[in-house]
Amino acid sequence: MAEYYRDFSQFLATLFPGKMQKIAVNAGFTCPNRDGTKGRGGCTYCNNQTFNPAYCAPSLNVTEQLEEGKKFFARKYPNMRYLAYFQAYTNTHGDVKRLLELYNEALAVDKVDGLIIGTRPDCMPQQLLDELSKINQTNPVIVEYGAETSHNSTLQFINRCHTWEDTVDAVNRTHEAGIAVGLHFILGLPGENEEMILNTVDKVSELPIDTIKFHQLQLVRGTRMALDVEQGKYSVPTFTVDQYIDLCCKVLQHLRPSIAVERFVSQSPDDLLISPRWGLKNYEFTHRLNNRLKELHQSQ
Ligand code: SF4
Repeated sequence: MAEYYRDFSQFLATLFPGKMQKIAVNAGFTCPNRDGTKGRGGCTYCNNQTFNPAYCAPSLNVTEQLEEGKKFFARKYPNMRYLAYFQAYTNTHGDVKRLLELYNEALAVDKVDGLIIGTRPDCMPQQLLDELSKINQTNPVIVEYGAETSHNSTLQFINRCHTWEDTVDAVNRTHEAGIAVGLHFILGLPGENEEMILNTVDKVSELPIDTIKFHQLQLVRGTRMALDVEQGKYSVPTFTVDQYIDLCCKVLQHLRPSIAVERFVSQSPDDLLISPRWGLKNYEFTHRLNNRLKELHQSQ
């Protein structure tokens, strides 16, 4: 448990009595920023191969993926309960009836007690939100929106094809539906300095969100951004680990303390990652961050 900020396990403890593990599910969705609904080509930094664990192959159905995931985790923790995490691409982009079938299939799997649904802020029809609100009465639902930044100029530059106003609207409607809301942000997007990043954190702190994820911008092979940087069109920030830890400490100073932080870093597969190559596991990073927060706390 984190000492100097609220972490995700503390948040989950408010919803579930025991230990919970997320299992990522790839239900074979696409993304409106790839299929032409909103745009084509996707966000400039995105290579979806970076967020699918090995057990999570779209050739398996939702039930099979969850059963595989459970086998993986149950070896270590036989009493574990689970959350189905619809992670890859945009998990609310589709026919509402079909979406509900997939969510309900996940909840019918033994020991799966809740849903986490990752999506874009411009992709949450009210009809679906109303249905999720009904599911939430019996099985907790958390909706995570990829906001990435509050600056529309940056959103446009990275081809997100949505705006900060879309994020504010989605967060407010989800909160009003009684559903827990999380946001995801990338720290170090091209053109953003520390002041802009902290300005985003200030704005986020005013929204009724429950959880937040941050990660460092990763330059990944096969993306538009990697090509642009290689061709010298622009550069991306090159934080050392210590510089990034200092930035995270400042982010926490600006963040509303009741928001649970789920992560500060993310790790793309080694063969796809160009930079930064810190060589740290997520838990090693968190350990170093916690030590830095302790030092800061003690020096006050
Ligand atoms: S980051 Fe998300 S919204 Fe952007 S292209 Fe990738 S899957 Fe689509």
